[in-house]
Amino acid sequence: MGQRSGRQEGSKKPEVALSETMEAEIEVQNNKEEIEEVKAKNQELRSVFGMADLKNEAVGLYNLGQTCCLNSLLQVFLMNIHFTRILRRITVPSSLARRTSNVPYQMLLLLEKMQCGKCKAVCPEDLAYCLSKHRVELFVQYDAAQLFLTLWNLLKKQMKKPELVEELSDLYTICIQEHLACQKCSFEIKSNSTMLTLPVPVLDANSHKLRNLVDCLRYFFHPEELTGQNKCFCQQCGMKTPFVQSMKLVHLPQTLTLHLKRFCFERSSHSHKLSHSLPFPQELDFREVLTENQCQADDSEKAAWQYELFAVVAHSGSTSFGHYCAYIRSLTECKWYCFNDSHVCQVSWDDVKCTYGRSNLNWRETAYLLFYMKKHPQQPCPGVSECL
Ligand code: ZN
Repeated sequence: MGQRSGRQEGSKKPEVALSETMEAEIEVQNNKEEIEEVKAKNQELRSVFGMADLKNEAVGLYNLGQTCCLNSLLQVFLMNIHFTRILRRITVPSSLARRTSNVPYQMLLLLEKMQCGKCKAVCPEDLAYCLSKHRVELFVQYDAAQLFLTLWNLLKKQMKKPELVEELSDLYTICIQEHLACQKCSFEIKSNSTMLTLPVPVLDANSHKLRNLVDCLRYFFHPEELTGQNKCFCQQCGMKTPFVQSMKLVHLPQTLTLHLKRFCFERSSHSHKLSHSLPFPQELDFREVLTENQCQADDSEKAAWQYELFAVVAHSGSTSFGHYCAYIRSLTECKWYCFNDSHVCQVSWDDVKCTYGRSNLNWRETAYLLFYMKKHPQQPCPGVSECL
């Protein structure tokens, strides 16, 4: 599904047959010249905002065939000035072969193409080709949460500078402490783990619909009793005993990604999408979501847990067939845009609210990934290094 107009319109290949190497070199050169031009033009603004929002209007990405999911995620990455500040400092790979297969570099070229051109939309074919070398094939329907993780891991792996890898981790990584406590004695196991996305359940254990995002988050952090068949072996008691499993929040990153678990795979033969209404707020304060007991963080960490909604990746259709688009709030203009492949338009908060979902309207757009941005960025992020 989605628009497939891309390849012909978006491609700007020269008519004269050039060798692949020369063609790529020219493109790199052209990009460099364009970069210099824009850099000079926006010198003053860039120091304040970074480059991601300096274009006059948001630029679309042509669909190359089932790439609506990739396009939506690319827009979410590239509209995030905290991310593009890191991306702009990567080392350009030395050889052409390395450049064509380097995801951060190809993403940077795409960003330049989007910002420097005068097109309403550009074709992400070089990046798509680059991703296909890393087993992210074209013409395949991806799950946005999975593809987000794949892209992030490729970026992290291929950013050579350790300080950039660390900044990328700081920007997106959530730290959680998991507790398992024996109910017969005092034995307790604690383990720290990191996550790129918080997998937020939309139903409770009895398959009842949770009312809104805050309820979902509270449910995620709610302690769970492991009894009956779920009992664990306690070293101290020397037998299987009832345990209580709980999660404590240790650290939240600058860009917080929430994955609404709307796809339900209870039985392998039958999967379905949960389309019921699930309102999410524009402003989210985690100190009001969690109890004191559910946090393992000091006051300065918790003071930074105030968020504003930055982007929504929405899915329409069924589990096996569907379409993605992204609603993103420009960080400098404070306006919402809907990025639907090559088509981009300004929208209102009411339009974004349409992605809350509605039962019995399975084909309508429903929010699938939510990206929240810290209101008051913390420097540096203290929790991550301890967790990683
Ligand atoms: Zn015990």
